[in-house]
Amino acid sequence: MTLVSSKDLLIKARKENFAIPAFNVNNIEMGIAIKEAIEECKSPVILQVSQGNIKYIGFRFAVDLVKMIAKNTDMPVVLHLDHGNSFEQNIRCIQEGFTSLMFDGSKLPFEENIKITSKIVEIAHICNIPVEAELGKVLATEDNFNQDDVNNYMTNPQEALEFVNKTNVDSLAVAIGNIHRMKDKEVKLNIDILKEISNLVDIPLVLHGSSGVMIDSIKEGIKYGLAKINIATELNIAFRDGISEYINQNPNDSDVRKALSLGKQRVKEKVIFYLKEFDTINKA
Ligand SMILES: [Zn+2]
Repeated sequence: MTLVSSKDLLIKARKENFAIPAFNVNNIEMGIAIKEAIEECKSPVILQVSQGNIKYIGFRFAVDLVKMIAKNTDMPVVLHLDHGNSFEQNIRCIQEGFTSLMFDGSKLPFEENIKITSKIVEIAHICNIPVEAELGKVLATEDNFNQDDVNNYMTNPQEALEFVNKTNVDSLAVAIGNIHRMKDKEVKLNIDILKEISNLVDIPLVLHGSSGVMIDSIKEGIKYGLAKINIATELNIAFRDGISEYINQNPNDSDVRKALSLGKQRVKEKVIFYLKEFDTINKA
């Protein structure tokens, strides 16, 4: 199937209180695992090209990997840029046929974030491509932070309203207690702030850093406007665990495909788990 835009998928998800998972595709095994899972579940999916994967295998391979998965399935697949780091990178992705963009200006001053996001949105919309932006700051485990920092960087609902009105952006990543690259599920989202944001802003909202958030808290968030849930760390963990399980049990087997196959199987199970939890089944 040809790639589809994230625009209508996310609007429908927000309206009907389900969510579309957005997975980082780090290698072919993970890509095939996701493809098999969405076919079994009849689900749409967002496949992201992350900055980490651009560094890992290069932009060309990172993009072609997602395109190859999309080409080989009848399910709707979105090709999305995760944490786009510049105006130039976003424009390059328009040329490459991305069907969903992101500019992450959350580290910039508010006005500067508005300025660059608006410029990208203006051009992307001419090409019918939706844009995600981020406001507030989703910290990462490697940042040196304490709980006060997490609270201070949360998305301000009034700013969110102003930001969305001024930029005309299509979806907004929010910081509501979520943190990137956490390995344990111990965070509860600040649902009160999320409710305030979603009362003011009617576009689909996005959750980054879902790996550290308790699943019931994510599901509650989906009731209040979260329509896209980014998942990266959890799939990496599943893949790693499958591979090491095989190698531990078969230390002398040199056919690495067998170890990778168990990794792939674990990723597939994880993807199906999320499709069920987010109510994405039969939404293709
Ligand atoms: Zn993120």
